[in-house]
Amino acid sequence: MNCRRGCGACCIAPSISSPIPGMPHGKPAGMRCAQLTETNTCAIFGRPERPSVCLSLMPSLDMCGTSNEEAFATLTRWEEATVPSRSPCSSVVILL
Ligand code: SF4
Ligand code: SF4
Repeated sequence: MNCRRGCGACCIAPSISSPIPGMPHGKPAGMRCAQLTETNTCAIFGRPERPSVCLSLMPSLDMCGTSNEEAFATLTRWEEATVPSRSPCSSVVILL
């Protein structure tokens, strides 16, 4: 499938650990990427500084669903499912 222009869910819902122009430490889940424009398109699309993780992410029905809201909900669920486990005191991240 093709990316739904103006969706932007995969530029907001997931965390990105690699540097992004304007976000040298990447971005946390749920935060808009600094390169996401007001119309939810990538300001650095096709440029070398675009993170490789963005290049490798391909639209699919599983991820994108049939609406922007569905994509956001799916990506949020996937993000939560891959967050590292935390210890009971909640201040120590357990590295598996
Ligand atoms: S979630 Fe899918 S449709 Fe939405 S911006 Fe990303 S690739 Fe495009
Ligand atoms: S760099 Fe572009 S494609 Fe990657 S998360 Fe940011 S806006 Fe989206």
